[in-house]
Amino acid sequence: MLTLHGAGIGSGIAIGQALILDHSLRELPEFNISKDEADAEVDRFIKAIESTKHQILRVQSELPAGSPSELATFIHAHLLILQDPVISQAPIATIRERLINAEQALKIHANALIEVFDQMEDTYLRSKKADIEQIIRRIEGELMMEPDETRERVAEGLEGKVVVTHDLTPSDTVLFRDRQMNGFITNLGGPISHTAILARSLKIPAIVGLHEATRFVGNGEMLIVDGKRGVLIVDPSEEILQEYHQRKRRIRRRREVLETLRAQPGRTRDNQSVELQVNIDLPDNLPTIKKCGSKAVGLFRTEFIYMNREQPPSEEEQFQAYVNIVKTLKQPITIRTLDLGVDKQASNGSMLENVTNPALGMRAIRLCLNNPELFLPQLRAILKASAFGPVAIMIPMLSSLDELEQVLELILEIKTEFRRKGIPFDTEIPIGGMIEVPAAAVAADLFARHLDFLSIGTNDLIQYTLAIDRIDDRVNYLYDPLHPAVLRLINGILKAGKSAGIPVSMCGEMAGDTNYTRLLLGMGLRIFSMEPARLMEVKKIILDSDTRKLEKSASNILQCSTTQQIREMVDQLNTTTKH
Ligand code: PEP
Ligand code: MG
Repeated sequence: MLTLHGAGIGSGIAIGQALILDHSLRELPEFNISKDEADAEVDRFIKAIESTKHQILRVQSELPAGSPSELATFIHAHLLILQDPVISQAPIATIRERLINAEQALKIHANALIEVFDQMEDTYLRSKKADIEQIIRRIEGELMMEPDETRERVAEGLEGKVVVTHDLTPSDTVLFRDRQMNGFITNLGGPISHTAILARSLKIPAIVGLHEATRFVGNGEMLIVDGKRGVLIVDPSEEILQEYHQRKRRIRRRREVLETLRAQPGRTRDNQSVELQVNIDLPDNLPTIKKCGSKAVGLFRTEFIYMNREQPPSEEEQFQAYVNIVKTLKQPITIRTLDLGVDKQASNGSMLENVTNPALGMRAIRLCLNNPELFLPQLRAILKASAFGPVAIMIPMLSSLDELEQVLELILEIKTEFRRKGIPFDTEIPIGGMIEVPAAAVAADLFARHLDFLSIGTNDLIQYTLAIDRIDDRVNYLYDPLHPAVLRLINGILKAGKSAGIPVSMCGEMAGDTNYTRLLLGMGLRIFSMEPARLMEVKKIILDSDTRKLEKSASNILQCSTTQQIREMVDQLNTTTKH
């Protein structure tokens, strides 16, 4: 039995036999050719490129109905990589000049290209390396007469299997889900990769970033994938296997029990009303959101509409997307304006800046205010959509009142224009701000005076307060919502909202983490916005809580000076049965 740790995706458990789809272990042949053989070798390479292209086109045409719309554009990007001269042309010259086989020639250019990506400072561009590796592997497969090995194995049947692979493309993730794949594990990837985002929304238990999973796992070996904890167990003992089967049953039973809470209003035992809202990443999640029983969308991350495409969406396209959500969900929707930058880039990279510290650079509202041609169509589209149902505007990453004033001014100008032209919109549309930069948290009272609501973005607030890059694996262990400084800031924001008489919600990951629900209730949070899958667990705790008791504990916790003390007290709060 062997246990490996990586980044867990989803909250479920997958148990099944390993199906290795690993092209990276393939031994590439290396040999010299004679001058007379060069034409035939070049021909072999060109044919491999052509059949790789057909493979990708076939994947595109086989995308199941209901696949997230971003997949088609993602596949298009793979076609563009394939057509890049470094991949499709340069090896031809190398075959002729150095008289080596096509595999070697391809490897030389692929390695040089990958090295360039490795050295890039920018996280988003660096992450594109994985796409290039996937294409190279497909070409190698074709050269070595193993065309589309992945898909042939799929045809053999993935039902009940756990796919073990170097990396998995989003398109394969969707297709494999349709073939009843149980779960998957990959050597590469992080919890914010496209594949991880999809796996989460498709509810596939997975672990990414396991580094050498393909080396340690053998084909057909029994695997347990614990998506919640990021733990992979290879060849478990009978005892562990039984335990996990039981855990799976418990998860299923618990989900069924939680389901019964769906219609219950979020109310604590001492009759405090608590709003449970959801975050939307991919608009394709709408059916799941409809089912989860939330009453409002607290965060719609619009940047996903901008990703994996050549041009930003037009005002009309955005308007249609927003109206579709408003009409489908029939509940209040908080639309966050564009938060592109750092890891969330438009795929054409047009917004990329060559900067060393993108998280502190041209991101979110800064980017929007600097690019009115990007920002104004979005504001107009949101205002237009507000005529079709309750919509609020939320501004990300505010750091100064000056920025807020500029945004309010722009909104006012659009409203004046719409009035003049008779374009309908909600004249009372609420405008809120995300408090996720420490400066805004410290000065939350100043922002509260000009806004209709505040929303605490803990993902960024923690990264900026503790100076920890939220997507850097190496410092993730320092990322701690229970740091005294973080709790003080959250407390200050809640108080600022209360004094100004405006609602304060929390839409960062902390809001959906049941470890913090009681603490946050005790601190006075009454609006939680989270991934739909987490909503029922959080609700269950809320229904069982008494905020009067929690307030006392929270106030004691806020007096603590170390994270360790706080953690112990929070653990105690969570393990005492009634609060
Ligand atoms: C946050 O920072 O907490 C947040 C909700 O926004 P995002 O994760 O999209 O940056
Ligand atoms: Mg944020």
